[in-house]
Amino acid sequence: MQVTATVRNVSESSYVGGAPLLGDAPALDLANTHYAVRGRPRDGLASPVDLAAWARELAPRLPMVDVAALADLPVADRDVARFLDLRAAVRGIAENLTGGHVPVASDVAVVNAAADRAPSSPALVITPRGDLAKRARAGAPLLDQILAGIAGDAVDLFAGERAARLRACQAPGCPLYFLKDHPRREWCMPACGNRVRAARAYRKRTKPVGA
Ligand SMILES: [Zn+2]
Repeated sequence: MQVTATVRNVSESSYVGGAPLLGDAPALDLANTHYAVRGRPRDGLASPVDLAAWARELAPRLPMVDVAALADLPVADRDVARFLDLRAAVRGIAENLTGGHVPVASDVAVVNAAADRAPSSPALVITPRGDLAKRARAGAPLLDQILAGIAGDAVDLFAGERAARLRACQAPGCPLYFLKDHPRREWCMPACGNRVRAARAYRKRTKPVGA
């Protein structure tokens, strides 16, 4: 299925359905489907079509998803609701962690319930080429494998060494989270840094003399 509404903006990382895919962590890419354009909130998972396109783009980065089956990915409204529930929980935990607060138990419970929707240990399979590969065990629908894979990444992210590098972007109006992967990275993406620097320069230029 071709999604014609896909917005492409080469200057701002990879976009699908309008939402930025920063690639820092699958759980953060889910969190970042709640994003903003010029300070106005947007939803990258507003419909089943959006979710199908986004999930297809993300799924190859999850270890337990049968990528060969992605061409046929049925998505219903209730699936969108489940991804939005997980997104709200991931954003809630990220907000508390980056704000120095204790995450709330209900957010943690939503992550765990999503992780339980597919088996977390892989099966060993022999590929058509005769190699051995790690695959999701049969039994869970593909979208559940994806949801569970993202939840599993959230568990590893929030309880692992990556948690120390979790940041909320400080650009005004930007709701995105990212992993500080090098000491000079201050923003979710370069466009946010450019926006903040331009605003600073404008304020400097327009500052009244003697102020
Ligand atoms: Zn930002």
